[in-house]
Amino acid sequence: MSGIVIIGAGECGTRAAFALREAGYSGSITLVGAEPHLPYERPPLSKPMDGAVQMKLICAEEVLAAAGIDYLKGMSASKLEADAATVILSDGRVLTYEKLLLATGARPRRLACPGAERALDFRTHADAETIFASARPGRSVAIIGGGLIGMELASVLRGKGVAVSIIEAAPRILGRAVPPRFAEKLHARHIAEGVGFHLDRSVIAINDDGVLLTDGSMVRAQLVVSAIGVMPEIALAQEAGLTTGNGILADAHLCTSTPNIFAAGDCAAVSQPGGGHTRFESWRNARVQAEVAARNMTGSAEAFAAIPWFWSDQYDLGLQVAGLPQPEHQSVVRSLGDGELEFYLDGGRLVAAAGLGVGNSLAKDIKLAEMLIAAGVHPDPAALADPSLNLKALLKGARAA
Ligand code: NAP
Repeated sequence: MSGIVIIGAGECGTRAAFALREAGYSGSITLVGAEPHLPYERPPLSKPMDGAVQMKLICAEEVLAAAGIDYLKGMSASKLEADAATVILSDGRVLTYEKLLLATGARPRRLACPGAERALDFRTHADAETIFASARPGRSVAIIGGGLIGMELASVLRGKGVAVSIIEAAPRILGRAVPPRFAEKLHARHIAEGVGFHLDRSVIAINDDGVLLTDGSMVRAQLVVSAIGVMPEIALAQEAGLTTGNGILADAHLCTSTPNIFAAGDCAAVSQPGGGHTRFESWRNARVQAEVAARNMTGSAEAFAAIPWFWSDQYDLGLQVAGLPQPEHQSVVRSLGDGELEFYLDGGRLVAAAGLGVGNSLAKDIKLAEMLIAAGVHPDPAALADPSLNLKALLKGARAA
């Protein structure tokens, strides 16, 4: 049966299937997912409730059926034949498509040292169950990688009374996506919570005792988790002859080098207005790209231009970052009661904002900051720094001007 086939039933692929219907597409939609579950959300995996790993479904079986989405669970695509417009599945079945969306996501990077196979990944529901089943109070866990997964997991494990050590190759944690000001504050909080840090050190081997580091020290641990980043899943596209790089290369409309094949989410490296291709690995990006790809697969010609945004929960703190803060940006800090906002100006124009506060307390401010960024404002830095100056008023003023 022809129609639209989506490979990958994560946040991106599943959202795309529904967005196709919302865009009025009435042909057949086949959603192919390798995991043996209904599509589920990944962010709740690091937040077990009453000791159990959450399985928060994106949609129930009846909802998929009602939308006429044919969901092939526990099935992966083993070969893509772009010239024939077919996909061969792991059970040998052949699907023909008019249009294909590759939402294949990313897979954890693997360590290459002796004993690397002892380190557990943290990406799927099964990974989370394995980790939380053995990370009991009083035990010790070494987490390799001080990125978002490592630090979110550390905060949850400390809350359960597990001893946690972080091993990070860089001199500081959260160096990839979190502005230094907030990375330092989160680092201090982790230290206060009793997390041990081994920064600027690499792993030589993992054995029964724990993790052996380049400085000769041994980090003793009963469980080792690897959280050293992800690699885009591009093999299917690459073998089919699509253009790839650090991801499946797509134009601004999310179309790949083959006109009837689109790519979105963690696997897609999307052409940027200033040149080059960028891949964004975040929950919101997966959703927004899914929606844009779905509309473009049904005849629109919409360029993907969303402002990047992500959040991270660690202990009782909530971090949000909108836009892409860079070291060369002018920083303007607004201190609030129990939190802080930082705005980033490029040549006077507001291009990014971040905030760290208790729980969700800064969500409204970051939402307004996003609207200010989208409006292209050139705010007075003194006004931005002044907590008594309402961001809503600033937005209203900018819109009126
Ligand atoms: P990540 O955020 O890229 O962090 C990986 C960290 O591991 C980096 O600091 C990296 O340092 C370090 N590292 C790399 N190789 C290492 C080694 N051999 N030994 C020690 N440290 C090493 O990746 P992640 O935490 O694994 O998360 C995976 C993806 O999921 C990321 O894209 C992340 O943004 C996303 N995610 C997002 C959220 C959120 O939005 N809240 C939550 C969880 C995950 P270098 O940078 O120096 O290589």
